[in-house]
Amino acid sequence: MTATPKTLEAFMNWTRERNPGQEEFHQAVEEVAAHVLPFIAEHREYAEARILERLTEPDRIISFRVSWMADDGTVQVNRGWRVQLSNAIGPYKGGLRFTPGVSESVLKFLAFEQAFKNALTGLPLGAGKGGADFDPRGRSDAEIMRFCQSFMTELHRHIGPEIDIPAGDINVGPREIGWLFGAYKRIENRFDGALTGKGASFGGAPLRPEATGYGLIYFTACALEAMGEGMDGRSVLISGAGNVATHAADEAIRQGGKVITLSAHDGCLHHAAGFSHEQINEVRSHKAGGGHIKDLARPFGAKWRADAKPWDLPGHIALPCATQNEMQEADAQALVDNGVLLVAEGANMPLTPDAMGVLRRARTAYAPGKATNAGGVAVSGMEMSQNAMHGPGDREHVCRRLNETMVAIHQRCLEHGRRKDNRIDYVKGANIAGFRKLADAMLAYGVV
Ligand code: GLU
Repeated sequence: MTATPKTLEAFMNWTRERNPGQEEFHQAVEEVAAHVLPFIAEHREYAEARILERLTEPDRIISFRVSWMADDGTVQVNRGWRVQLSNAIGPYKGGLRFTPGVSESVLKFLAFEQAFKNALTGLPLGAGKGGADFDPRGRSDAEIMRFCQSFMTELHRHIGPEIDIPAGDINVGPREIGWLFGAYKRIENRFDGALTGKGASFGGAPLRPEATGYGLIYFTACALEAMGEGMDGRSVLISGAGNVATHAADEAIRQGGKVITLSAHDGCLHHAAGFSHEQINEVRSHKAGGGHIKDLARPFGAKWRADAKPWDLPGHIALPCATQNEMQEADAQALVDNGVLLVAEGANMPLTPDAMGVLRRARTAYAPGKATNAGGVAVSGMEMSQNAMHGPGDREHVCRRLNETMVAIHQRCLEHGRRKDNRIDYVKGANIAGFRKLADAMLAYGVV
């Protein structure tokens, strides 16, 4: 091959051959390539420099053993990774997740998505992602702390404020970031901004825990406004009950929405009257204490729907905030049948390609995670600036910039995503806007 092929089929054959068995990675690449290939075909310089092929090949992947001792004295062995995908527009940046489902394919898909997301924020942030196949469920605090410390004994040599700046993701929150940063600081004997999502007392940006969820709602408000709609009085279906879901719920309630669901992997909490801020706070503290959200059904006057998802319930706005591929074809069809107005992603790639197809055919407004959930990494970028300046954080400033960033991302999606019938193709808009920024930087560097 001498230039990027024009057809999706040829490009995907090439990708699949090079990355056998990595289904999640194929899925993320295909979704981007479908929009970017026609754009590349109109821009020979991108095709000849084979920018898209180069973006699908990470700069490097580090894989390492994490040994640690459980409370019962048994020796445990896990695998950790850091995928450093691209530093074309800034140092590698992206979260760490600890779940048994983590694999090289999952982390490559997440790092690839992150490249576009970070480009869309307008900040100088490259792309990376990492984590481990470690399941913290049922583990004591001491075990999780020892795991984080062992993980950092290898990761520390690959990161730094100008190199690679990890943050949290699934099962890696402020507590884990504290343990990871404590280990980094001790091994390296330096205090710098090599991680974001830190606690407020040691360099964390204000609003970082809330940023992804709040940002999702700021974007949702822009998308609703573009449709001549608003959040006030609308029912909101949210999946998940973690950091993104609960903060999205808080901001949706603040904007007048009625949040009627949260969920876990084994069922959905349905609160027909709508959750209050106090109840969302209780969800957070109950979970932090190791509890399950189903225990809250009775005290909240809500219903626990075992093994169900939120998507078959009538709602105007659907916000999948749990994990990849959580919304499937039948789920999307149920939403469409119930007249959903907008689906906006809090998680990374929560819709399967079939679910996206249902929304496309029904002409339902749909906004992808790489645009809608970029608020978290955007505030991480602010934390990096704050740390580099050795200054304190300013809550008001961060809050205003988060809102401005989400409005700007929405605007960037419109530039390439406005259709002839005036509806907005957010997926196309986000993919092309992100690609252009990365591609122009890569062209400037020559063939490296
Ligand atoms: N894990 C988050 C994401 O998916 C945040 C990454 C970061 O702050 O670096 O974008």
